[in-house]
Amino acid sequence: MLKNIVLDCDGVILDWRQGFYEWIKVWGYTAVFPPHPADYTMITACPDKTEEQIRLDMARFNASEDFARLSFCEGAEAGVNALRAAFPTSRIVVLTAVGQSDRTLALRRRNLAVLPIDEVICVPLGASKRRWLETFARPGLIVEDHPDHAAEAIELGFGAILVDRPWNRAFAHHEIERVASWNEVVDASRRRLAGASAGKLAA
Ligand SMILES: [Mg+2]
Repeated sequence: MLKNIVLDCDGVILDWRQGFYEWIKVWGYTAVFPPHPADYTMITACPDKTEEQIRLDMARFNASEDFARLSFCEGAEAGVNALRAAFPTSRIVVLTAVGQSDRTLALRRRNLAVLPIDEVICVPLGASKRRWLETFARPGLIVEDHPDHAAEAIELGFGAILVDRPWNRAFAHHEIERVASWNEVVDASRRRLAGASAGKLAA
């Protein structure tokens, strides 16, 4: 039985990059097209700011009303509902590294309120998710767009699915399955559970 399905949020469920990109333009940044830079610092989108300044603005954005109005990634709403239907007794957790303030958590919960998820956990901005993953019962499956989080989950015995995005294309890992859509997330999850032993998911 699959105990925990751990979903990343930004770049998997919600289009944080597009939302942040629109927000920084309002605040007078030079925001460089295209709106999906291939790095996590967003420095290529904001060449007139330092990495530290951008990081502070990320925290500001993540506490703003706009943060609760991020668009869903293509297929995400249907995909999470399909996971819920396919795994009715599994715990579906959104584990998201957007900062831990009460306000950011409340805004994120509001944005995700339409989805059938059991819990939203916010961890420090940009932090490793290892400390939280270690506490989750396995077998478990993580769905990520960040290679580092997916690789950490593999080290802890989780199955890992990486949603293909422009910013993670340089990454490859033989145990991490790359998928191109939410339909493929659901298909891969079903297939892994079908082949699962008691303690470990099929690759
Ligand atoms: Mg992400």
